[in-house]
Amino acid sequence: MPVYDAASKKAEEFINHEEILETLSYADANKDNYPLIEEILEKARPKKQGKGYVCAGLTHREASVLLACEDEAITKRIYDIAEEIKLAYYGNRIVLFAPLYLSNYCVNGCLYCPYHLKNKHIPRKKLTQEEVAKEVIALQDMGHKRLAIEAGEDPVNNPIEYILECIQTIYSIKHKNGAIRRVNVNIAATTVENYTKLKNAGIGTYILFQETYHKESYEELHPTGPKHDYAYHTEAMDRAMEGGIDDVGLGVLFGLEKYRYEFAGLLMHAEHLEAVFGVGPHTISVPRVKKADDIDPTAFDNSLSDEMFLKLAACIRLAVPYTGMIISTRESEDVRSKMLRVGISQVSGGSRTSVGGYAEEERPHDTEQFDVSDQRTLDEVVRWLMENGHIPSFCTACYRAGRTGDRFMALCKSGQILNCCHPNALMTLSEYLEDYASEETKKVGYPLIDEELKKIPNPKVLETAQQNIIDIKNSNRRDFRF
Ligand code: SAM
Repeated sequence: MPVYDAASKKAEEFINHEEILETLSYADANKDNYPLIEEILEKARPKKQGKGYVCAGLTHREASVLLACEDEAITKRIYDIAEEIKLAYYGNRIVLFAPLYLSNYCVNGCLYCPYHLKNKHIPRKKLTQEEVAKEVIALQDMGHKRLAIEAGEDPVNNPIEYILECIQTIYSIKHKNGAIRRVNVNIAATTVENYTKLKNAGIGTYILFQETYHKESYEELHPTGPKHDYAYHTEAMDRAMEGGIDDVGLGVLFGLEKYRYEFAGLLMHAEHLEAVFGVGPHTISVPRVKKADDIDPTAFDNSLSDEMFLKLAACIRLAVPYTGMIISTRESEDVRSKMLRVGISQVSGGSRTSVGGYAEEERPHDTEQFDVSDQRTLDEVVRWLMENGHIPSFCTACYRAGRTGDRFMALCKSGQILNCCHPNALMTLSEYLEDYASEETKKVGYPLIDEELKKIPNPKVLETAQQNIIDIKNSNRRDFRF
């Protein structure tokens, strides 16, 4: 039987089934152990250190106790600490992005995804470079600066060369004042060599959802195709890091398996990356299974309620305080609103999940990967964020300045966020307002920027940010960053 070892390179040792089962029993045994719960909450709370904060984070066992605890007053305190951590490290900024679907050709048999090979009635489509350019122009005209590219797994139709060519096209398009400045990549598990190629193409984060950490279920849910190989999929982030990508994004497709099992597995995966590479995941995504072409989410009987989903996100926030957390338009405005209060730091906006969807006037449904719950435009999402006390940010500075992996984590801990990320967010927001926003959004945005500028502690940084914002208004100069 495989033995648990966070630093092992073998999937079944760092995501260890026995350890997860023991964690769940430990959590059940301690869910009313108030002295222990108090200790865990105290450990999770951010502590002031110098100009910044430090946060200890929680182990998968500690965080699982909090998740199991049913006391409403404790849950409320978990939410409060999650918000404190979010504000300590990320402030009130929320980074915006959009997915870009390149191809829905796929050779896998994933039971939850409409792109599975046996689906013969869904039209198969792969963007040509001209079509990629059209999509990018449409996305730039919305105001996007950061994309996550998505593709099915198909070595013939979507080989790595195709993905690399698309990345090159995306970065090359400069339409009006627009530019895509960060391309994150969500493609199937691949080789170290291919990860190095992606790194050299200038990608931001490599994102790969585990779908489920439960090996047996994983194999049932992925009955055919290369994705069937649990170990190859689970060890992908190790290969990505070996290939030179130091920002990787984890995720679970919630609803496939029991959420407490997934939660422990997810945190063990983060602990594994920390143990082996000295740096945890850059982001964690929390998608839930949605209705799609020939997919009925109720076929998977592990769906979790909105309340539990919220608590789960908050517990992730406490466990991995330096990791960005992403929520997509799979979720409704209402759920997204609540999730933003418990630690989410990135949201997608104005998303279309079909291949070639952005260049179409009307939202197309024929090649959609899943139903989009939040169908608002990016402008509406930006205004909504501001009206709810967040700063929408289109910043992509960190990875372009080489602040990836542990260097990004160091910035998070240094307390310099208000002199760096905060002005960057305000400058990119003012670009958005100037170039793309509706009058209504501008009316909310400019006063917000004036207010938020006051929070910049360093007078020189403040002066530069103010001058840059004036330049953005009065000229076509763009892309200022600290
Ligand atoms: N093909 C790549 C792979 O195998 O990892 C990744 C790209 S896939 C387009 C992106 C993600 O969408 C998948 O990892 C899966 O978690 C999610 N997804 C698939 N079907 C879904 C559904 N019905 N509802 C919500 N999310 C879904």
